[in-house]
Amino acid sequence: MTTLFISDLHLESGRPAIGEQFLHFLSTEAREAEALYILGDLFEAWLGDDDPNPYYGAMKSALRELTDTSVPVYFMHGNRDFIIGSDFAAETGIEILNDPTVVDMYGQNVVLCHGDSLCTDDVHYQQIRAMTRAPEWQAMILAKSIEERIAFAIQARAESAQRGETMSDEIMDVNQGAVIQMLNDHGVDTMLHGHTHRPAVHTIELADRSATRIVLGDWYEQGSVVRWDTNGPRLETMPR
Ligand code: MN
Repeated sequence: MTTLFISDLHLESGRPAIGEQFLHFLSTEAREAEALYILGDLFEAWLGDDDPNPYYGAMKSALRELTDTSVPVYFMHGNRDFIIGSDFAAETGIEILNDPTVVDMYGQNVVLCHGDSLCTDDVHYQQIRAMTRAPEWQAMILAKSIEERIAFAIQARAESAQRGETMSDEIMDVNQGAVIQMLNDHGVDTMLHGHTHRPAVHTIELADRSATRIVLGDWYEQGSVVRWDTNGPRLETMPR
């Protein structure tokens, strides 16, 4: 059996090819998997589980069909969809994981994270992250109507563009010190994350051992997946 990991699909109705590939993946390979882990930024944006957008409805239905076939699906928040909540989990049958989480992959302990918490050189982003992950801030946002939240998001993007930040936001790479700290904090030799859109397998030489950092790619032009079985992990692309 194989466990599958994906991240950074950035699903939105304006990029239909990504959604088509995701739906195909869910109804074929994922059906045969031992489990599917989605490590954040499944959606380009998420304004609340009550968003009636039919595009999201189709994606939720497809996830439900997969979990109904008894394939467990685990989801970790990304910086784009960090407000996904318990209603989404109940509708789809997925389980939301804390960031970071350690899992046992066929006898090997692996720390999973989205990856944005490792980008500590981006001080401005880390400030925004701390603010928007606070339960009080999320409660304040979710108390607004969905129409107000959509308007708020449009305004936030416009202000961001005015400050010269591009819409596709140049994502900083991880800070090596933050990577080593996370490995040591959890006492593991392997880390798997997304976020940076820089798919690779890195070897890190630590004082007492060598460690591995696997980075999933985004789905803009093709799919990116880690297939993990008793032989270990394989980072692979899925052509469209
Ligand atoms: Mn991200």
